[in-house]
Amino acid sequence: MKKSNAQTDRIVKVLDLLQASGLEPVPGLEFASPWQLLVATVLSAQCTDVRVNMVTPALFAKWPGTKELAGATQGEVEQMIHSIGLFRNKAKSLVAMAKRLQADFDGEVPGRREVLESLPGVGRKTASVVLAQAFNVPAFAVDTHVGRVCTRLGFSPSPDPKVTETALTAILDSSRWALGHLLLVLHGRRTCKARKPACNSCPVEKLCPWPDKSV
Ligand code: SF4
Repeated sequence: MKKSNAQTDRIVKVLDLLQASGLEPVPGLEFASPWQLLVATVLSAQCTDVRVNMVTPALFAKWPGTKELAGATQGEVEQMIHSIGLFRNKAKSLVAMAKRLQADFDGEVPGRREVLESLPGVGRKTASVVLAQAFNVPAFAVDTHVGRVCTRLGFSPSPDPKVTETALTAILDSSRWALGHLLLVLHGRRTCKARKPACNSCPVEKLCPWPDKSV
């Protein structure tokens, strides 16, 4: 457990208030295995979860696992995911990722950060999402929403993913990282939006020191 201090008490209050406000902290991406979550998370970069969820059922039906996807061509995968942003790069990464997992890990997705981050197309945020949501390994994933919200709320000195992760994991107990990530993402999408945060209807407005609140 983290020692209690003012910042720890405040982030816990913020998360409790966000949860009490009705946000449902469940993953937006649909998946039934670590492999499916890994693929969906790679596809979700600069793309909505809704769009990814429209594409993945057909993708997983055609190529159920690493063995099948490793045998696909990049062009075939591009055709399947062409409605998703950056589809060419993502198709290339998915096929290379499947081949690597087949070659080195018997086709399984390992629940280890250093291996996940060594896979094509997988960065720290994707690895953190997979570790937290598929393996129950404590990890605090920072995307653009989490970075922005944590900065406005005064928990991080900057929205930079690494800076935000370091700041939040220092004040928040690891048992709350996965839930905290989901709540902060949802709050950033629905209320604390990039251009015009809806501060008037924000459930944590009284705990927020952001000087440029909308009125
Ligand atoms: S008060 Fe405004 S800036 Fe602060 S967390 Fe809420 S929406 Fe974001």
